[in-house]
Amino acid sequence: MQSVSWILHQTSHTGNVGSAARAIKTMGFDQLILVDPKNPEAIQTPDAIALASGADDVLAKAQVMTTLDKATKSSRLVFGLSARDREFGPPSISIKEACAIAKDQSCAFLFGTERTGLRNEDYHYCTHRVWIDANPIYSSLNLAQAVMVCAYEMRQSLQESAQLKLPQVAPRANIEAINALMEHLREGLIAIEFLDPSHPKKLMERLRSLFDRAGLYPEEVDLLRGVAKQMILKNDKGFKL
Ligand code: SAH
Repeated sequence: MQSVSWILHQTSHTGNVGSAARAIKTMGFDQLILVDPKNPEAIQTPDAIALASGADDVLAKAQVMTTLDKATKSSRLVFGLSARDREFGPPSISIKEACAIAKDQSCAFLFGTERTGLRNEDYHYCTHRVWIDANPIYSSLNLAQAVMVCAYEMRQSLQESAQLKLPQVAPRANIEAINALMEHLREGLIAIEFLDPSHPKKLMERLRSLFDRAGLYPEEVDLLRGVAKQMILKNDKGFKL
């Protein structure tokens, strides 16, 4: 996956750090950064380890940094998550919009403290303020839950773009080419006396449905026409099966 980091700023509850590690790992990410956590040993606490559960590896390798400046500087886009609207600061977008623009760029999701969220000055390190749509009269998620929603949205967005980027499938043979192949094969099958024109049964229809199911490429049509040609030629030369 592309570079996506998950930054928790001045987190108070070590359990939230563990739960956040679990959320990002379940969604396929692994870069957790703690900036100035209240407990500098947060990633080694029993609470964090217990709540991280199977994401103990992500927790153990989480980086602990002293400033937001260091934590955000390698990301092209930095999304500062907040439930509250701000009068000033970077442009405000929804989490879905954020994940859509983040597809091909290094990005960081920055989460505020449990008690006060992100301060105005923290937005100096953000390219966008990002909100998660919620109940307008009670919109504040628990920190790790907010991480979970963002990680899920980011995963969905990356998967959609991966699907769009699937290599273009080569075009199949067109209907005219298939019809010509069927006619060629019919002649060949008559030539080798596999097909009796007075009792054709459903042979050609069954072959046709086989080819339709397969979805032949032009080269495969050419190959089968080569086979038909040889069947006719061998017969002309008096070849006996
Ligand atoms: N009491 C704080 C919110 C703390 S929740 C306040 O009033 O701001 C902890 C963090 O989770 C927030 O700083 C924010 O980064 C994130 N968060 C919680 N709910 C959110 C929402 N609805 N939209 C965006 N971020 C949210």
